[in-house]
Amino acid sequence: MDTRLKEFEEIQIQKYVPELDLLNSSLLNSQEKEFLAKFYDFLEKELYTDLKALEELNYFVEEPTQDKKKDLIVKIIKKLAKKEYYSTILNPEKHKVGRIMRNVLIAYGLSGGGWSDTREEYIAGNWSVEMGRLSGGTLFCNPVAYKANEYQRERFLVPVARDGAVAASGMTEFNAGSDIVRMELNLQINGDEVIAKGKKLFITNGMICDYLILYGRINEGQIGAIIVDTEKQQLQNFKASRVNTFGMEDAFVSCLIFDEVRIPKKNLLQGSGLGIAFHQLTEERLIISAEALGDAMKKLLYSYSFALQRKQFKKLLHQYQIMRFPISKSVRELNPLIAAIINHARNLDQNPQLGTSKQMAQQTMGLKVSASELAFESSIHCFRTMGGRGFTRHYSAPIGLLDPYCMIHGGGSNYVMGDAESRRFFKPKPPKEEFY
Ligand SMILES: Cc1cc2nc3c(=O)[nH]c(=O)nc-3n(C[C@H](O)[C@H](O)[C@H](O)COP(=O)(O)OP(=O)(O)OC[C@H]3O[C@@H](n4cnc5c(N)ncnc54)[C@H](O)[C@@H]3O)c2cc1C
Repeated sequence: MDTRLKEFEEIQIQKYVPELDLLNSSLLNSQEKEFLAKFYDFLEKELYTDLKALEELNYFVEEPTQDKKKDLIVKIIKKLAKKEYYSTILNPEKHKVGRIMRNVLIAYGLSGGGWSDTREEYIAGNWSVEMGRLSGGTLFCNPVAYKANEYQRERFLVPVARDGAVAASGMTEFNAGSDIVRMELNLQINGDEVIAKGKKLFITNGMICDYLILYGRINEGQIGAIIVDTEKQQLQNFKASRVNTFGMEDAFVSCLIFDEVRIPKKNLLQGSGLGIAFHQLTEERLIISAEALGDAMKKLLYSYSFALQRKQFKKLLHQYQIMRFPISKSVRELNPLIAAIINHARNLDQNPQLGTSKQMAQQTMGLKVSASELAFESSIHCFRTMGGRGFTRHYSAPIGLLDPYCMIHGGGSNYVMGDAESRRFFKPKPPKEEFY
């Protein structure tokens, strides 16, 4: 049954809001603009129909839609991979724009979407589809590219990065969430095999992935990382099931059970698992920041457009300051944050050694906190302007209204950062004489 009410008019997205159009901004140079414009073109020509089909499935609440959604996500990831939009680690010499900047622009474009001149309509992005891209293309590919030997590269990296196999990264557990050092999953080495026993929670793409980078304790000791081939989810003693989340509904967030799963020992990555996980941290934070800002842009566009169209008490909503002011404030806050992301991405592309800088990791975490809070606030603007409609699937599904609520916690907890940061700021400095 289609849950949409025919009496609800579609929100007509305004064609041109210069402040919300990154292509119109002086922040990007001409090569970056060309890259983003090509991505928007791809979004329109190749992904539009699939993204629309994915959205449509949200309206049929009494029908099973999971398999249909899965097929669409797998198809979208393949299309992204074909154009090197899934992972940005391959063929760096071919591109005029740096690897991390490309990743940032794709994340922004896929989460936010863009205006199509040919269709004369706005092509909405989808943050949960982008989450799937990030998990396979970055959180799996980057650590594998960092540590893989020749065999592991050919066997596990190429099928994902080049051919678009779905992949995932498994870190979080029931006890080890923010505090990943509490990880318990055991990777017991037994001759030529590693036996995995334990559970993983909140794993994006978990139940649809072909490959997974799995973090756990080697022989109950140090944290290590191993690549798991899920054999198209048929791997013996491995079970993946969906965690039903509010928001991020197309990211296939899953719970994984490893009940003595046998994995070839040659799939183990060399080195400390924490080192491998942290190696990608700065880039991950930057990409999530770009996703959040793309999403914020999209939500601002929706609340702005609705405020221009909806009339109550004989006035259009935008004629009430209480509607207008908060939206304008968020639009104003968006651009400095975009500028910060762009600067960091350029900097990291030019100086890859900054990827291991603690200060850079802190700054990108700060950016992620501010960016995801702006996305969160932009959702509130949608609720405020849309009233009851905001709570219906008809209106909330195209906007991905609850996605930022998930991301305030997902992908590394904001509050942990807030707490650590405030402790550092407020730590009393010892009086000078104590130094002598
Ligand atoms: C949509 C989504 C997708 C995800 N995808 C993946 C994935 O692909 N792979 C993966 O491994 N994980 C994934 N996660 C998990 C995510 O990384 C964790 O949710 C996150 O690390 C928080 O862990 P937790 O949920 O156990 O919260 P907890 O660690 O239990 O924290 C609970 C609350 O307390 C706060 N808190 C905890 N410690 C502190 C502290 N020291 N100071 C202040 N506040 C603190 C947290 O911020 C949080 O708000 C995903 C999560 C979501 C929501």
